[in-house]
Amino acid sequence: MKKIAIVGAGASGMMAAILLKQRGFDITVFERNEKVMKKIYATGNGRCNFTNRNVGPKNYHGENPKFAISTIKKYGYDEIIDFFNLIGIKEIILEDGKTYPMSLQASSIVKQMELTAENEKVNILTNTYVKDIEKINEKYKVTIINDENNLESREFDYIIISTGGRAMEKSGSDGNGYRLMQKLGHSITKTHPGIVQLKLKDGGFKDMSGVKFPGACYLIDKNKKIMEEKSDILFTDYGISGPGILQISGECMRRLNKGKEVEISIDILPEIEENQLGDFLTYNFMINQYKTLKEGLIGIIHDKLIENLCKYVKINSNINLSEISKEEIHRLTMAIKDWRFKVIGCKSEKDGQVTCGGVSTKEINPKTMESKLYKGVYIIGELVDIDGDCGGYNLHWAWSSAMACADSIN
Ligand SMILES: Cc1cc2nc3c(=O)[nH]c(=O)nc-3n(C[C@H](O)[C@H](O)[C@H](O)COP(=O)(O)OP(=O)(O)OC[C@H]3O[C@@H](n4cnc5c(N)ncnc54)[C@H](O)[C@@H]3O)c2cc1C
Repeated sequence: MKKIAIVGAGASGMMAAILLKQRGFDITVFERNEKVMKKIYATGNGRCNFTNRNVGPKNYHGENPKFAISTIKKYGYDEIIDFFNLIGIKEIILEDGKTYPMSLQASSIVKQMELTAENEKVNILTNTYVKDIEKINEKYKVTIINDENNLESREFDYIIISTGGRAMEKSGSDGNGYRLMQKLGHSITKTHPGIVQLKLKDGGFKDMSGVKFPGACYLIDKNKKIMEEKSDILFTDYGISGPGILQISGECMRRLNKGKEVEISIDILPEIEENQLGDFLTYNFMINQYKTLKEGLIGIIHDKLIENLCKYVKINSNINLSEISKEEIHRLTMAIKDWRFKVIGCKSEKDGQVTCGGVSTKEINPKTMESKLYKGVYIIGELVDIDGDCGGYNLHWAWSSAMACADSIN
């Protein structure tokens, strides 16, 4: 019977282990943590957004996003749901196709996968760290630090490497998988955090920190809006966050890393059209001429934003509304609907939900996930240079890349 080692019992490793054990292989999973799938508990705010009804190749990125097409098409939404239904998870679809276990508990995904693996008698060695992988003749030698802190080596016919990226390192994925892959001769593309909060140029954010509102954000390229997200926006002391910002952050960082200037636009009041807002301000300022500008804006935008907005449009917030010109009202209206900020970076890897970049897809077979450098070595999940949008797409990639790999081993 062929012996397979799986390095890392996260989402992709556990999926591969269950599927391959069901097909009769001798499986050993090595997991450095004391328990499996540690990261899953934190996913989807504890509810685990494990796939998305609208999943498609468009949701995936990397140096060569086309790499994901065949896997995502073959192992789409229905295939993932079928698997989870079979192991006892019923899905519920919430906003934007985001799909969760009906219990709305991430722990249910872990528990049902653990029970399935246990029932299949998958051999999972926890507290076991894979230190090295070497090819020796036709076999692979895996060197581990075992649960008693001793060095030990074992031989396998196939190796599946599912160590994740660098996001949330306390969950076990600290980037050591890149080192293992590099030692085998694989190249790692430049990595950076994705689904992450953005740092913005120009201070002043401290006074706006904590302000949250239902807004819209846009990624700007050559003065054109190329990505847009309508959702809560949160100003922080370093810059900006919120679901829409997290969604566009990967693309912002990709562009920044290519040396491009990255600008985002915030619409503070997306529910009102620009001309309606302009008319309202004109009328309101006319009938309240005794107020200052900063008083006039109270009740329209959050008061903690007023000072910075006035600075941005270069109008003194203390001027009297009787003194404000038509052109200044127009500038204010425009700024409320299209406030531009320069992105200078993002929070660290540990703050991101995913690592963008990873093992170069040039060196992996897109249909099987097998290394092109070593027959019998497979690379799956976030370790590969493929990252998904926010909304269940990264876990979908973890499950589907594991399925592609499992189906190709015989
Ligand atoms: C806070 C947070 C929320 C998220 N929410 C969502 C969400 O709702 N929906 C979604 O689709 N995605 C979400 N993601 C992303 C998603 O969790 C990951 O993309 C996915 O878990 C990656 O799966 P993986 O199997 O590649 O790696 P991981 O799940 O990271 O698993 C890797 C495993 O390998 C182990 N390991 C690493 N190195 C070694 C070694 N040398 N020896 C032994 N074991 C090792 C690690 O301990 C870990 O258990 C979220 C991520 C974070 C951080």
